[in-house]
Amino acid sequence: MPDTVRVRFPPSPTGEPHVGNIRSAIFNWLFARGSGGSFVIRIEDTDQSRKVEGAVEAILETLRWLGVDWDEGPDVGGDYGPYVQSERLDLYRGAADDLLASGGAYECYCGPERLDALRREQGKRKERVGYDGRCRDPEARRKAAAEGGTPVVRFMMPAEGSTSIDDVVRGEVTFDNALIDDFVILKSDGFPTYHLASVVDDSAMRISHVLRAEEWLPSAPRHVLLYRALGLDLPRFAHLPIILAPDRSKLSKRHGATSALEYREMGYVPQAMVNFLTLLGWSLDDRTEIFSKDELFANFSLERVSKSGAVFSTDKLAWLNGHYIRESSPEELADALLEYWGRYPQAAISEPPARDHLLKIVPLVRERLKTLADAAPLVSFFFAEEVEYDSAELVQKGMDAESTKGALLAAETALHGLDEFDAESIEGVLRPLASELGVKVGQLLGSLRVATTGLRVSPPLFETLEILGRDRCLAAVRTAAGRL
Ligand code: GLU
Repeated sequence: MPDTVRVRFPPSPTGEPHVGNIRSAIFNWLFARGSGGSFVIRIEDTDQSRKVEGAVEAILETLRWLGVDWDEGPDVGGDYGPYVQSERLDLYRGAADDLLASGGAYECYCGPERLDALRREQGKRKERVGYDGRCRDPEARRKAAAEGGTPVVRFMMPAEGSTSIDDVVRGEVTFDNALIDDFVILKSDGFPTYHLASVVDDSAMRISHVLRAEEWLPSAPRHVLLYRALGLDLPRFAHLPIILAPDRSKLSKRHGATSALEYREMGYVPQAMVNFLTLLGWSLDDRTEIFSKDELFANFSLERVSKSGAVFSTDKLAWLNGHYIRESSPEELADALLEYWGRYPQAAISEPPARDHLLKIVPLVRERLKTLADAAPLVSFFFAEEVEYDSAELVQKGMDAESTKGALLAAETALHGLDEFDAESIEGVLRPLASELGVKVGQLLGSLRVATTGLRVSPPLFETLEILGRDRCLAAVRTAAGRL
């Protein structure tokens, strides 16, 4: 095993980047960054039938969004490329040929028809379903070959004994060889299967640790046997715990979004997402929940990866998201919102506002946002030509149209007379005005709120009026009074 840490994230471009896969990417990245190692991205596109257009870009975009950076990969190259498996077919063919020559593998001519029939038979007889090894026998193979067809290459499994892996997370895990079929390593289209390609590449790319989801644990004995048969050094394995829904079933679409990019669209911020996904299977202690990127680099360790399933709680994600939004500076939040609105145009905001304008507004709403998506309905009135509301909403409980109109007109006069149109002065004139008018402060402010923002629940009103500016406020109040 090489002494320097080299880890990899090898996605298959078969669809949307699943949060579980991104969790694997993050664990590999943190392990590399915390140990001065390298993080490699490799595209595993050997299953041509499952390839989805645009999937590679979506995966890389997800990682960029999250700030997960890599040292070698399809876009940046590196010493061990190419980093796309369909460009490395000769390597796999060479490895398969070596195994054929050494007797570690054999060509199999059993086509889909025979395999289907075999499966059905085995099912009927209630036997274990799997390849029966017919083509192991050179005579049977010769006969089958004579009928034509392109063979696949199968690995010759030891008929007996067991294979163990020494997993960093799970310790020794042992598999009975008799329960594993002679699995295919090279398909008839000349493409390798995942097993062969990942072993050949992890070795060729000098990968020191294979950190991947628990779902791949059953593949590990096949990989160990392949490494040995090819005379290659083994990496260390660490299988990350399965991700569960809150009902402890396997996380799937029926529990909500599973694509990382859907979370971006829902308004989750990258810091929250990275923090949240890291806690799916890793913890520092029983208490600490909030980690900056640097704290994760410094503290992440494989020793503290848990064996038991990790529950994906969207409540916790929302809580972390609110935390990171509250913690962000006005500049950070304004930029995040502008980027978000640019990417996902909001019906409520027809044109993206100027950054300077938004900078004044974000401190008013920062505390109230759970996601970036919550912002547009709360702030869109700042950028609208006219606020929209139902006139009846101007009239607060305990008041009627007449008294509301009077209060609005009095407020207009009071606001008009202010020297400074800032939050403090506005508050200073409106509170006494309410008692002068004999109405509750809440009633006066409620009417003014609807008149100026169109909302019943708005950002803090005095600051809001200050940002709207005197002219706009007076016009809005006059318009409102006119509607009563
Ligand atoms: N291509 C596999 C996947 O899609 C990689 C599994 C591994 O990490 O070995 O997840």
